[in-house]
Amino acid sequence: MKVSIQTLGCKVNFAEMADLGDRLARAGFTVSDADEQADICVINSCTVTAQADRKLRTMVHGLRRRNPEAHLVLTGCHVDNPNPRVSAVPDVDVSFPNARKREIFDYLASNFEPAAGGGSTTFARSRFFLKVQDGCNHRCTYCIVWRTRGISSSEEAAVLIERARQAVADGYGEIVLTGVDLGAFGRDRNQGFAPFVARLLHAIAPARLRLSSINANDITPDLTELAGAPRFCRHLHIPLQSGSDRVLKRMGRLYRRRDYLEVVAALRRRSPDVAVTADVIVGFPGETDEDFADTQAVAREAGLTGMHVFRYSPRAGTAAPRLGLPVDDPISRERSHQLQLQANDQRRAYEARFIGRDLEVIWDRRLPHQMRGLSDNYITVHAPHRDQTLGSLATVRPLAASPDGLLCG
Ligand code: SF4
Repeated sequence: MKVSIQTLGCKVNFAEMADLGDRLARAGFTVSDADEQADICVINSCTVTAQADRKLRTMVHGLRRRNPEAHLVLTGCHVDNPNPRVSAVPDVDVSFPNARKREIFDYLASNFEPAAGGGSTTFARSRFFLKVQDGCNHRCTYCIVWRTRGISSSEEAAVLIERARQAVADGYGEIVLTGVDLGAFGRDRNQGFAPFVARLLHAIAPARLRLSSINANDITPDLTELAGAPRFCRHLHIPLQSGSDRVLKRMGRLYRRRDYLEVVAALRRRSPDVAVTADVIVGFPGETDEDFADTQAVAREAGLTGMHVFRYSPRAGTAAPRLGLPVDDPISRERSHQLQLQANDQRRAYEARFIGRDLEVIWDRRLPHQMRGLSDNYITVHAPHRDQTLGSLATVRPLAASPDGLLCG
């Protein structure tokens, strides 16, 4: 049986599906992210924005059209969205809420026959995404995720370290730690996040370690210290959301503009070339031109090397729509456009600093004419094919810039 796995949304979804893919492959299924001729399609969904909901519906309709006979399994935050108009996706055969996601393996293993020639997977075979934590105890006013994922809970450190060690033994060159609220890892077990990261970093040598996303208020001095350690990827994704204290307060975020800038400055003192990327929301209710200008200023001052710019969309079940003062669509569109241009300029300027300098990349995709790699400081690098192995680390020296990263000779 061929299983196609499709993920939308965050790295946590990706980590969960990489784990499912591995388990299915060990049980004899043929797993990939391509959907052609799949007998079973598993979709791990997102509901963080209205756009994510639309993407899911388009994906389900497309899969149905291309694979009318396939068995469609839907899981993820969309299934848990408390708004029934959103969570009803027609055309899937079975759906699993987040709390029952682990049951998908048993469901498939007991209802479908594995492939005759043994299992295999091509899904997520270069970097190993390790989910260490789920759920969130915060109440950001724009966010539905804390309702779909429940309260914060962490996996046991010793089990995680063993899983990461095994991944390195299997050939993975990079471990990516993921969690819905990653910085909350260990709090429910009275353990600290930074000591866990230090243990893990030691255990996975010679592989490198990356954090997927962490809030500014969770970046402690001991974590900042670790950010300069060898094999700790020089990249942190620190959601900004807004550069205006007024808006941050209305969003229910736990840091302010100054905290954010101080955290980034401390990281740069420890690791001068560190890449800092961020999520930013524009058009949040009540966001004025001055608030938006603050966001642009903080993004500039923090030297953000990449931004995911989202236009705010009201979600049923969240507090933000009740705050009033919605921002008109054309205004939020224009702000999104402006910030995207700024993001591109800042990204290119950062990447240009590494032309002619050595970078450590992990080869993460074999393209028809090139290999694609990702540097420790989150720059996409393309190089001609030269027997590179997916998932292996290599040192390269980029020679030129391209629209989507740097090029090697
Ligand atoms: S920290 Fe805020 S935005 Fe992130 S999952 Fe929790 S409630 Fe949502």
